[in-house]
Amino acid sequence: MGKVMAIANQKGGVGKTTTAINLASCLAERGKKVLALDMDPQGNMSSGLGIDKNNIEYTMYDLIVGESNLENTLIKEALDYLDVLPSNVNLSAAEVELIGMEDKEFIVKEIIKEIRDDYDYIIIDCPPSLSMLTVNAMTTADSVIIPIQCEYYALEGLSQLMQTVELVTNRLNPDLKIEGILFTMYDSRTNLSMQVVENVKENIEQPIYETIIPRNIRLAEAPSYGLPINLYDEKSAGALSYTKLAEEVIGRGK
Ligand code: ADP
Ligand code: MG
Repeated sequence: MGKVMAIANQKGGVGKTTTAINLASCLAERGKKVLALDMDPQGNMSSGLGIDKNNIEYTMYDLIVGESNLENTLIKEALDYLDVLPSNVNLSAAEVELIGMEDKEFIVKEIIKEIRDDYDYIIIDCPPSLSMLTVNAMTTADSVIIPIQCEYYALEGLSQLMQTVELVTNRLNPDLKIEGILFTMYDSRTNLSMQVVENVKENIEQPIYETIIPRNIRLAEAPSYGLPINLYDEKSAGALSYTKLAEEVIGRGK
């Protein structure tokens, strides 16, 4: 059965989208059937996987409000090896539209119900908020991956995030698990990165990925070419680390 993983943290700029794009792509490179589901109105997961987000007819927004169906919205075999449910700025209107809907926390779960088992992994990129879009992602997901940037305020906001996961687990999705904390933008030249990792390990009783994503300029460059890191520069430190993460994710599933 397909595993659905939401990449969430309400802080912006912590590496959610970079992780969503590159984990999805590295899983696909390993022969897994992958769906990349973009739940962020910024649409950066979509564009980072080579999709011209401003020239697509239907997006997650249309699915949520019932103006399109999966067949018309799903982009098949992007980059020749993974499927994408794209988003763009239109999705920002969904937040308000969802308020009036019945079972508004379960809209996305319902949408993907019929294709869930077509995939080994469904990777959801969440917006930088604890909004109804993020709640929908968590209600749909089997587990959450929490990227944490190795910087001074790393732990800030983490307790709200944990509370939200707990709330969703208690009320909406009892099977939801925290899959793991992922350290991103690790800078081996500074003590700070090391201290953040130590500090989180001491304070958080959650699983932590062994793989640590280094700060790597190639990871920041790749999206402007519409390519994930393994296709942009397969020998870069960024590509090696996301490949390792994909292997760790696959290994844990066994
Ligand atoms: P979020 O989705 O959490 O807002 P992003 O993945 O968009 O975060 O990352 C924020 C910025 O940092 C982007 O410009 C991205 O290219 C860059 N970035 C992310 N991870 C790394 C990394 N490991 N090394 C260097 N730059 C990174
Ligand atoms: Mg993002």
